[in-house]
Amino acid sequence: MAVRDAARAILSSLRSEIEAGNLDSKTLELAVEQIDAAVDRQVRRDLRYSLRSVINATGVILHTNLGRAPLSNAILDHIAGTSLSYSNLEFDLETGQRGKRDIHVDRLFRKVLEIVDRLVRDSSNQAYAEISTIVVNNNAAAVLLALNTLAEGGEVIVSRGELVEIGGSFRIPDVMAKSNAVLREVGTTNRTRIQDYERAISEKTRLLLRVHRSNFQITGFTEQPELDELVQLSRKRKIPLMEDLGSGALFDLRSVGVTGEPTVLDSLQAGVDLVTYSGDKLLGGPQAGMLSGRADLIARMRSNSLFRALRVDKLTYAALEATLMAYVKSDHDAIPAVRMMRLSKQQIANRAETIVSAARSPKLVLELVDGESLIGGGAAPSASLPTCLIAVSLSHKDADEISKRLRAADPPVVARVDEGRVLLDLRTVFPEHDNSLIRALQHIASD
Ligand SMILES: *Cc1c(COP(=O)(O)O)cnc(C)c1O
Repeated sequence: MAVRDAARAILSSLRSEIEAGNLDSKTLELAVEQIDAAVDRQVRRDLRYSLRSVINATGVILHTNLGRAPLSNAILDHIAGTSLSYSNLEFDLETGQRGKRDIHVDRLFRKVLEIVDRLVRDSSNQAYAEISTIVVNNNAAAVLLALNTLAEGGEVIVSRGELVEIGGSFRIPDVMAKSNAVLREVGTTNRTRIQDYERAISEKTRLLLRVHRSNFQITGFTEQPELDELVQLSRKRKIPLMEDLGSGALFDLRSVGVTGEPTVLDSLQAGVDLVTYSGDKLLGGPQAGMLSGRADLIARMRSNSLFRALRVDKLTYAALEATLMAYVKSDHDAIPAVRMMRLSKQQIANRAETIVSAARSPKLVLELVDGESLIGGGAAPSASLPTCLIAVSLSHKDADEISKRLRAADPPVVARVDEGRVLLDLRTVFPEHDNSLIRALQHIASD
């Protein structure tokens, strides 16, 4: 069937070329001779998967267009181990009764949030409310579920400086409308004070919402209440405080030199009642949306019928469980996105030198230049890491042509183009792909 379709497509394009009078007898003869080969190529194209592995040489670690966080072999092993046969997804092996699918990761989230707690606070015995976690399809779904559960028919107070659009048409006001909650905006774009929240509280208020400014900064004449002030207000008026963290780091980014990016634990420790965050951003796992917070609020989300509609598959639970296990063991290098963040500029420069000397050819000019990798994926927009870039130039070819040729390689190489220059950042290239990258560079210089 694939061959028949391919043959039809090739013959019909040849027929229209003839009808249009594009072919003289010589080129026609040639085209007819090559029908076999053309059909063969077409069949290969048709039977190739559309979703393919690519080499991300952009240096953006959590690149939404390139699938955000890559997974590891340990994660794939756990997916294979639990989904190539049946599993205890919703079955309690001890009692033989029906179980809940979310217990598999809730247990680990509790552990991770405790471990980080010990690292950050050096064994303090301050008690805080029991925290539990549930998982839905993505963070957009988590926000929708939280607003619908906690604020349907009532008002949610948000600062005008946080009415963000994340991209892919996730806009806080739109999600609010879909959840049947009423948005109560306070403050101005650049300045919101705690008194603005306080004045807006009425008997209709159900929730105070703080949204992480994932993809933009407001600088200059600005003001935003401290998280502590919001916590105090929420406790005083007995209205829950929710924070949409977006990226949801489970490890301290200060360890890689990035400041101002709150971790999930920072927020929970500060007293936020509920946080939402993505699985495939700074957490470094599969696409998912987490709701972590006060167990009584989480219980209400769990019994909302939306939770059933937004639930995730066993593949996601397996991937999340394996990712969280790496955090429990403090084995951060087992999580590819986190490992990339921890690479030093020197480690990257060493690999870059090897690639440059292996791929050098008369037409190809490869230079090492200093630059910055981006964390991306809704981490602080300024979050960048020093790196060493390979600048690629090819005689008589502009940056667009070079990056197009790199994309045509197998596997395709996606480069960064900056001010008319093609740049490759090895921070996001897996070392096992270095040889493919060398071949791609040799190939673009060979014709
Ligand atoms: C990324 C992000 C979202 C959307 O998360 P998805 O997992 O992509 O659905 C929502 N809010 C914030 C603040 C974000 O950064």
